[in-house]
Amino acid sequence: MALSGGCFCGALRYEIDQGEYLSVNCHCSMCRRTSAAAYVTWLVVPKEHFRLNSSEPASFASSDHGRRQFCPACGTPVTCVNTNHPEIVDVTVCSLDDPTAFPPSRSVYTDTRLAWTDPER
Ligand SMILES: [Zn+2]
Ligand SMILES: [Zn+2]
Repeated sequence: MALSGGCFCGALRYEIDQGEYLSVNCHCSMCRRTSAAAYVTWLVVPKEHFRLNSSEPASFASSDHGRRQFCPACGTPVTCVNTNHPEIVDVTVCSLDDPTAFPPSRSVYTDTRLAWTDPER
């Protein structure tokens, strides 16, 4: 039984093989701007464990090595691929049908973290 997820409107759907995957909060400025959220929680999935079950996502280059992929109909950010790590696809944890399955275990780019993301607030 695979994990499943997709975009808000349902045009993009994907499956991920069951497994242990790293879940990371990214506080970089690119994730912040492209999601319009304070940070993005990513699931780091080896490419062979990820399958798109729908039409292809739209995408744009967010850096010289990263491409962000999103639903062309509703805009939900779903995946990010990086030519520096071609064996990996990063999947937005909150596009999973069950985001509770992968609580983040670490944060990266905390030097650019917004102070008000402090959990004490
Ligand atoms: Zn959609
Ligand atoms: Zn980021």
